[in-house]
Amino acid sequence: MKSAVGLSARSAEIPATMLAVVFTAPNEFALREVPTPRPGPREVLVRVRASMVCATDTKILAGKFPATRFPHVPGHEFAGEIAVSNDERFGIGARVGVEVHVGCGTCDRCREGMYTLCQNYGKRETGHAHVGFTTGGGLADYAAVPIAALHMLPEHVTFDQGAWTDNLGVALWALERGRIAAGDKVVVVGPGAIGLCAAQLARTIGAGRVTLVGRGPRLARVRDMADEVIDAADVARLRGNFDLVVEFAGTADAARDAIALARRGGRVVLGGATGTGVALSGVDLSTIVLGNLDVLGSLANPKGVSGRALALLADGKVDVTSLTTHHFPLRSFADAWQTFTERRDGAIRVMLHPQAES
Ligand SMILES: [Zn+2]
Ligand SMILES: [Zn+2]
Repeated sequence: MKSAVGLSARSAEIPATMLAVVFTAPNEFALREVPTPRPGPREVLVRVRASMVCATDTKILAGKFPATRFPHVPGHEFAGEIAVSNDERFGIGARVGVEVHVGCGTCDRCREGMYTLCQNYGKRETGHAHVGFTTGGGLADYAAVPIAALHMLPEHVTFDQGAWTDNLGVALWALERGRIAAGDKVVVVGPGAIGLCAAQLARTIGAGRVTLVGRGPRLARVRDMADEVIDAADVARLRGNFDLVVEFAGTADAARDAIALARRGGRVVLGGATGTGVALSGVDLSTIVLGNLDVLGSLANPKGVSGRALALLADGKVDVTSLTTHHFPLRSFADAWQTFTERRDGAIRVMLHPQAES
């Protein structure tokens, strides 16, 4: 790794403009040439090599995140190499994966390590950033990223794998919220990308048996990521069976299933409904009270959990490569977006490659 040099290195190698996806207004996007961002204090410029879209981007585009201002450069699941840095710990050329939440560092929640709950959300002047939400993201040739969001990629982790840095942390945090214990019977409700990461991580950190519950044709292709795969229509026969239930589907049906699947005294972690407007009805509260259940919400990936998840990835304990079903150059973003949002050809995750053409 080369050592860090000052911002003066920038003009020689960093173009003044770059290609970026721009969410121009709610429900409108374009590929544009925009000014290359300049990293601020305690930030580096990352040359993006691999960057994914996820369902959250569809919510951002729809204007459902009030803190996101249009026009906006999205992208919050990405990896690349440092192109400009003033910090010798994160030198030029270093390969990094990006975590999404950066706290102010000084509020009560940040001091607890729960920077995902930072009390200064959206106030950039305090140091807070939600990369790709309140600040420009990685669906672009370059992104200015706070150092606090960076994780060095282990040697054998590729950029494509490194783009999963944030997702893997989200999945691991949900398991830790649920106090996963060796030998636990674990069920994951929701076979999307994060749920599939959670199923694999549960197995690798010692679950006794991992069951995956979901619907649709995707179930067939992910069969080997759990010990057992069950169609959501058949969950009734598994009621009261599991020590730990982790939900990453985001629907009321899935949350009801999750609560029903827990054994008495078990733990239920709800992680899917990250947008407002999903109400939970039809749950008999005695299921929770007489069941002595822990029903927990899990948001994102605090306490540097993504770094520990990367160690498991580097060890070959999690397969994200087969979850990355499609690849496109950034220039073909419209195709990639359609493939993802319409789940064409069994799409789970699509990967954009900003630097593919250069
Ligand atoms: Zn995402
Ligand atoms: Zn804070």
